[in-house]
Amino acid sequence: MIGRCATGYRSGVRILLGLLLEYGAIQGDDRPAGDLKRYVTPEYVLYTDLSDDAARQVLARLVAMTDLYRQWTGDLAGAACNKLSFYLYGRYDDYLASFRGQRPTSAGRYDGVSLCAVADTNVFSEKGIWRVVQHEGWHQFSHRLLQRETPLPIWLEEGLAEYFGGAAWTGDRLIPGAIDAERMRRVQRRIGAKQFRPLRKLVAMSRDEWSEAMNIVNYDQVGSVMQFLTRKHPDALKAYFRDMVLGRANLPSFRTHFGRNLKTLQKQYETWWLSLPDRPSAERDDQITVETLMAFLRRLARQGRTFDSAEAFFQAARQGRCVLPARPPDGWLLPTLLAEALTKARQHENWRLRYDSNHRPVLTLTREDGTVFRARCISGKKIPVRVEITPARPTPTTAQSPEK
Ligand SMILES: [Zn+2]
Repeated sequence: MIGRCATGYRSGVRILLGLLLEYGAIQGDDRPAGDLKRYVTPEYVLYTDLSDDAARQVLARLVAMTDLYRQWTGDLAGAACNKLSFYLYGRYDDYLASFRGQRPTSAGRYDGVSLCAVADTNVFSEKGIWRVVQHEGWHQFSHRLLQRETPLPIWLEEGLAEYFGGAAWTGDRLIPGAIDAERMRRVQRRIGAKQFRPLRKLVAMSRDEWSEAMNIVNYDQVGSVMQFLTRKHPDALKAYFRDMVLGRANLPSFRTHFGRNLKTLQKQYETWWLSLPDRPSAERDDQITVETLMAFLRRLARQGRTFDSAEAFFQAARQGRCVLPARPPDGWLLPTLLAEALTKARQHENWRLRYDSNHRPVLTLTREDGTVFRARCISGKKIPVRVEITPARPTPTTAQSPEK
């Protein structure tokens, strides 16, 4: 429940063996290595050696991250008695040194106490870093704030971590559910080569089995099952998740919500993945691009910067003339976020930009297939931009307009 102080599991078991297996035995009590500044949000304490501007963007992302987790968990997550700690190092060497001789295998991890990551873009991509932070951040949130009786089934814990890990940052919020084409092809290949476990075995998989065979195939499978279920069976998934938090029996509950015949569900899952188009989440991707451009346009408009057209904005942005001032009131954003959105915007030609009577931007994308994305600013809402998506009108056919 929101407002209730969460202390881990209701049973009082704070750190379970299974979690230790995944998170490792490296505890973060002595973590500070190097000169780290401390920043505080309602839910996190961030320790970092990044610049103030970069740290402020990290804080905004942490707020968006917990908003995303809470959208999912609703009243099943409580408030932490102690804030969640997050150590973020700017240099890979300092990150390694903080493990005192034990070598981490990725850009971040949750050790059962703290979330720890490295934001060194000389070693990891920006996207890769945040994928790990959002993934491991879910483990920390789930461990510390879910009011659960027992640990979640491992496939569910890791599947959600993968789902949240892939959420895209727009500058104002995180949007989950986009599927990149490379990952889609990998999943399709694995389905074709029968590398995945039968669904029944996946759902019943123990934490020991997961840890023994920890490999990318398992992550691909749980991530892809989660993508499928969030799209095709969202209500059943939420109901099953609630049952798991309440400590009900795993497989019987799964069958209650998804049907007794798991082979049928497995077939649906495989058919769905194998029939995805080349751009598997085109609508979600375009929505993310539109919202990201709006995150910049909105901040620029508040500084008195407006543009005669979308093309004028794109041109100014490509020439580096849309850098935000150091401390805009609603948060500084990395120029690389804009650069990435501009590259994606080039996939479409029909962009339109105007300003409403309050001088706030209204950005419209009309896609080649006729789908319209119209983004405008919303006053007094936590998410300050809303995108309305209008599907393309079907072309009239003789069958739809019969002669009388
Ligand atoms: Zn994980």
